[in-house]
Amino acid sequence: MKLIFLGPPGAGKGTLAVIVSKEYGIPQISTGDIFRDAIKRETELGKKVKEIVGRGDLVPDELTVSLVRERLTQADAQKGYILDGFPRTIPQAEALEKFQKLDAVVNFSISDEQVVKRLSGREICKSCGAIYHVTNMPSKVKGVCDKCGGPVYVRPDDSLESITNRLDVYRKQTEPLIGFYRGRALLKDIDSSKSPEDTQDQIKKALGSLK
Ligand code: ADP
Repeated sequence: MKLIFLGPPGAGKGTLAVIVSKEYGIPQISTGDIFRDAIKRETELGKKVKEIVGRGDLVPDELTVSLVRERLTQADAQKGYILDGFPRTIPQAEALEKFQKLDAVVNFSISDEQVVKRLSGREICKSCGAIYHVTNMPSKVKGVCDKCGGPVYVRPDDSLESITNRLDVYRKQTEPLIGFYRGRALLKDIDSSKSPEDTQDQIKKALGSLK
């Protein structure tokens, strides 16, 4: 199944992508993770995008599209995938439909107020990517991942300034994709303001007919 997870930062795309990816046996492809990994390893790509990602602005379309195009040629993506955080602009979506046929676009919705609350306390495991929240969903031992024992940290772009900018960028540049995919009859609307379990339930129902 070829899926896109669309929605503002903090909507729960990453958390649910991990769950749904296991359930369907398809990889989660997160452009944000690819960029963060490149930044950490200080590759050429990492050096190019470090400041852009830190500010919460978008990496140029051409660069992002060529990266995803390349990733989708790999063996594990032939059966299906979840694109988490891509496309984020109309030109990216237009480029994608030239080389891929999608099954559905899951549209996560949540208020700006909740986004700020969720992201300003978010913590992530450096080793396995598990996501925590300082007050809503803390790890059992502070700074240590419950699942793998790895170090848990705060993403540098989860500062209030960058969160506000990412939301602004989402509303201006990414939200128009809702109309784009609704027009192609691919959109599945999900309310992601409640628990991950509740959101998972809604996704299951929405995708059930596609399985
Ligand atoms: P979030 O959804 O929490 O904002 P992501 O992990 O999806 O975070 O992305 C982090 C950052 O990586 C974005 O703020 C942006 O700088 C960059 N990025 C990720 N995906 C894209 C994309 N499709 N196009 C352009 N930039 C992207």
